[in-house]
Amino acid sequence: MGFKVYKFGGASVKDAEGVRNVAHVIRETGATDAVVVVSAMGKMTNAFEELVDAYFSREDRITDALEPLISFHLNIAKDLFENTSHSVFKELNLLFNELTDFLKRNKSPDYDFVYDQVVVYGELLSTTIVSAYFNVISLVNTWHDVRRYIKTNTRYREGKVDWEITMRNLSRNIPKQGLQVTQGFIASDPNGFSTTLGREGSDYTAAIIAYCLNAESVTIWKDVPGVLSGDPRYFKNTVLLNTISYTEAVELAFYGASVIHPKTLQPLQRKEIPLLVKSFANPTASGTQVCLGEPINPLVPCYILKRQQILLSLSSLDFSFMDEENIGEIFKLLGYYKLKVDLIQNSAISFSVCVEDKYRNLEKLVARLKADYKVTVYEQVSLYTLRHPNQAAVSQLEENKEILLKQVTQNTVQLVSL
Ligand code: ADP
Ligand code: ASP
Ligand code: MG
Repeated sequence: MGFKVYKFGGASVKDAEGVRNVAHVIRETGATDAVVVVSAMGKMTNAFEELVDAYFSREDRITDALEPLISFHLNIAKDLFENTSHSVFKELNLLFNELTDFLKRNKSPDYDFVYDQVVVYGELLSTTIVSAYFNVISLVNTWHDVRRYIKTNTRYREGKVDWEITMRNLSRNIPKQGLQVTQGFIASDPNGFSTTLGREGSDYTAAIIAYCLNAESVTIWKDVPGVLSGDPRYFKNTVLLNTISYTEAVELAFYGASVIHPKTLQPLQRKEIPLLVKSFANPTASGTQVCLGEPINPLVPCYILKRQQILLSLSSLDFSFMDEENIGEIFKLLGYYKLKVDLIQNSAISFSVCVEDKYRNLEKLVARLKADYKVTVYEQVSLYTLRHPNQAAVSQLEENKEILLKQVTQNTVQLVSL
């Protein structure tokens, strides 16, 4: 069997039973030469984000905020390791101390910088536990700190990969024989400070490693049977997509099908490395294969929902046209305030844009826009995207919704609704 990359997300390692199951998946699928990329456990990245917020809002009580994070990991470790003098406990304590030290000593007021120095501990703790547990059950492996290999610029929370150095580091340091355990999502800047690749970025890490090491395939192990025709949390009667092309997968991920991180596809497509999306609960089932070939099989309408979007409707104050110059200005501001644009629509005198405000800059943006435009803001709207629509699917989607905007293109229907 060739050299593979496996990625296990937070849901697969949310508790001790999950970690045992990850070992089972590796054994069951006979992956002997593989890099196993593991995310933070369960919802730990959110918990570390809250720790960062606590740090910035009320620094004095930081130990209170840290305590539940420490006990969460220790409890999982206690469940997995009968021997409480196992060296894993020392390693975990080292990580906790390192983090506490950073929070005590840090002088930087830069939120994004501090965020990255803190949230990386989610993956460091998780992989430390997983790697040690594998070794205990004779799944012999080597733990790697991926920050030493994957290098980015200093754009904290959204590091841009330096491919040349990363390729060199990975190929020199990660053997293609045997099992290697490492983190997703995290990297480091040229000065050695931690960076992250954007939320949910572990799928992307798996793709970076596969690209640099010419892996045979990447498998991302999920709590769903594969890529479905809709997120089962929001849509009923979804079906499994057996195969989809890289292009279709990019489209689905771009519109918000959160089962695959959008950046994952590009490196894989460039080297035609297949991406498999499979269920960690049922590792021998076929799942979804993303590869070159026909766009989508079976050809069914696919539903995507993005919640908590914002719809901005702008029109000129003096009834003049929305021209290239106006629209150019608006886009410059959207870029400056890091609002992600999902959908645009314009007419002679108005311009609507559906955006996501990850960095909480909406108020500042609207204040700037109001100097030049009449601005209407709809917050908490939902953006529905229907790929490969048919009439029945469109009617069903439109049912019982107050629709603010609808856009129809050849293969896609999008609705913004309250
Ligand atoms: P990870 O554990 O790797 O972080 P995620 O939670 O990010 O995994 O991704 C799996 C989740 O993606 C599923 O539980 C499901 O709710 C959601 N999802 C969104 N769109 C789809 C889709 N089209 N098919 C399957 N799952 C989807
Ligand atoms: N742990 C990170 C997150 O929750 C990265 C990932 O899981 O992909 O965003
Ligand atoms: Mg995730």
